[in-house]
Order: sequence, then C-alpha cells, then structure tokens
Amino acid sequence: MAQVSQNIKEFIKAEASRLGFDLVGFTDPSPPASFTVYQNWLAQGLHGEMTYLSRPDAVARRADPRLILPGVKSIIVAAMRYPRPEDAPQAAAQPSGKIAAYAWGEDYHNIIPSRLSELVVSLQQNHGLSFEWKIYTDSGPVLERDLAQRAGLGWIGKNTCLIHPRMGSYFLLGELFITLAIEPDPPFSLDLCGTCQRCIQACPTRCILPNRTLDARRCISYLTIENKGGIPIELRPALDQWVFGCDICQQVCPWNIRFASPQHDPAFSARDNTARPVLTQEICLSSAQFKQKFKQSSIQRAKRRGYLRNIAVALGNLGDEKNLPELADCLKKESEPLARAHAAWAIGQIGNQQAWIVLQDALLSETNPQVIEEIRLALSRFPADTG
Ligand code: SF4
Ligand code: SF4
Repeated sequence: MAQVSQNIKEFIKAEASRLGFDLVGFTDPSPPASFTVYQNWLAQGLHGEMTYLSRPDAVARRADPRLILPGVKSIIVAAMRYPRPEDAPQAAAQPSGKIAAYAWGEDYHNIIPSRLSELVVSLQQNHGLSFEWKIYTDSGPVLERDLAQRAGLGWIGKNTCLIHPRMGSYFLLGELFITLAIEPDPPFSLDLCGTCQRCIQACPTRCILPNRTLDARRCISYLTIENKGGIPIELRPALDQWVFGCDICQQVCPWNIRFASPQHDPAFSARDNTARPVLTQEICLSSAQFKQKFKQSSIQRAKRRGYLRNIAVALGNLGDEKNLPELADCLKKESEPLARAHAAWAIGQIGNQQAWIVLQDALLSETNPQVIEEIRLALSRFPADTG
C-alpha cells in the first residue's frame, strides 16, 4: 500500500497546530487493544443507563474501526487543551457550584469537528488529494483514548484519562478517519502512573476500578450529566458542589500538577459565571433562560431538569438556611418533578423548623408520587419533636 509522502504528514501536523491543536499523532485502523476490557465493562453493566454504548452495531465498530469508514487506512488523532480547573474565575456571588473545566466555554462537539474539517479542506486544496474521511469527537463508537495512545499521544492513566508526559490530561480528543495511507507514529508504550494511587484515593465515590475503567454508575460525571433520573440518596453528599461533571481525579494527578499549563484554546475559556455558577440564581432558571445561557455549551446535555436537579443537590450539600427561600420556591413552583424531588431532599438537609414547615406545606399540594416520596423521606429525618 503506497503511503503519502512524509511532506504531507508534516503538512498535516503544521496545519493541526495552526488550527489550535496542541498534539497530533497518526495510527492505523487495526482493532484496539483495550476492546476486551471494554467488552467486560459493558457485560458487568458498569455503563449504567448509557445503553447506546452496548448497541450491537456500536460495539462492532468499537471492536474494528475499519467498519466506521470503508477503505480507511489511517486515523489522525488530535488533542486540544482546555483550561485548568484551578484557573476558574471567581464566582460573581455565593453560594457557587462547580462545573468541570472542559465545559466552561463552547461545546467541544462544535469546535473540534469544525477545526478537523478545516484540516481536511486544507489538505484537499493544498495537495489536490482525493480521499474519503470521517470525523469523531466523543460522538460515536470509537475507543478514543486507545487510538490516542497508539498514535503516541500519551498513556491511559488509572483515572482513565489520556495523559501526556509534558502536558497532563486537560485536553479533548478528536479523530479524523481517512482513506490515505500515512505512516503511523510509534505508540506510547510507557505506563507512567507507576505506584501512584492518588486519583483512586481522591475519588469521592470510589468509582475508579483497578483495570483503568470506572463504575460509571457512581461517577459524578455520569450522575450529573448522562443519568437522566434521580441521583441515589447515598451518593448525593459526594457531589459536594459539582453541578456538571467533576475534575477531582485529574486535579490530584501529579502529571497535571507539574505539567498542565494555563494555555488553552480561547473557545474553551469560561464565559460569565459558567465555571462557578451562583446556585441560588441557577435554581430559578426558566426554560428560556436555560436555553439562552447554554446555547453553545456542553451543559445542554444535562437538560434543564438534570441541571436543576444537580443545583438542588449542591444547595442541599451546603445545608445553609439562607438558601431556603429559593429551594422552597423550586419545590412549590418548578414544573419538573425531578427538580422538585431533589429540592425536597435539599430542604431536608437544612433541617431547621422553617424547612420542616416548607416540606409539610408542599405535602398538602404535591401530586407527583416521586416528589411525595422524597418529601416524606426528608420529613422522616427530622427529630420527632420538630414543628
Ligand atoms: Fe471519581 Fe470524579 Fe473522577 Fe468520576 S470524575 S472518577 S467521581 S474523581
Ligand atoms: Fe496515574 Fe496517579 Fe495520575 Fe492516577 S493520579 S492517573 S495513578 S499518575
């Protein structure tokens, strides 16, 4: 199979850099080494409600990238940095929640594919090449980190993130499947986690498993984003103030502490209060305000009801009576039962007499069985002589 010249490979690297990518590597489309681990992970149901992951066609494509694009000969893997969590702008007011750093700015599903498309156009225009191509960024059945490791970009850490030895792990990946044969880069063959266990010890829900997978059902990222139902009561305290995703297992990683730099693509910079939103304002967001505020943001993925559910949990974890008026309003007026149910729990966490009265009042008018159950459960935790 004839490979394109080294010049073209160098051109792709230079163009990727011009388009804002910090890393780029090349691999072939052979089956990924970690597929068996992935298959076992699915078999154990550790993917929770993300049933799209276990669809037979999706599983087959993850097993063999050649099914994704007939005739594919190479996969270009590119990475773009986002801000470090410690560089979050101060919240405009208290109490504030925490959003995972990758989601502060524009949705990466918009940014990365459009930059990779520019790369394709540039390659076609500058070299007159004709080829088929397909782009992915966390948007289809691709074992991205496996491909990135094989393309030499880093190793998969115990926290399941791809880690680059001089850049850490605060970056997003995109893949360009292409029918041109390009010489692959050598895979990254070291495991630089060594005996470190920091991420495993720091994870508040203990969901990092020994084989570099997660029990997604307990991970805060899953619970606050992919999970469409209630957050299990026993896990709510672990969410602390995280309202969309979680950065903890990356923040404690020595490779981020030593090497992650504040440089990142401007598209991912925090916009007004997106990094540390004011919880008592967010719990009151109307549908129109939510749509407007998160128009171009990954946060849309949680949908308004999921986001409000997370905000209520964060307020409950504060347990501060100052936040009772906003929570009481949510319980009384909010149309989404999921948000009302979590507001009831949060009010119970405040635990004073006023909170008890609010819950008793709500019980008189509430009609949704799940919300009624949450109210009753919250009331059952008050001391017998309350009221
Ligand atoms: Fe644990 Fe948070 Fe990392 Fe999930 S994102 S594995 S909850 S530390
Ligand atoms: Fe590996 Fe330690 Fe980083 Fe976890 S914290 S990914 S064990 S280096």
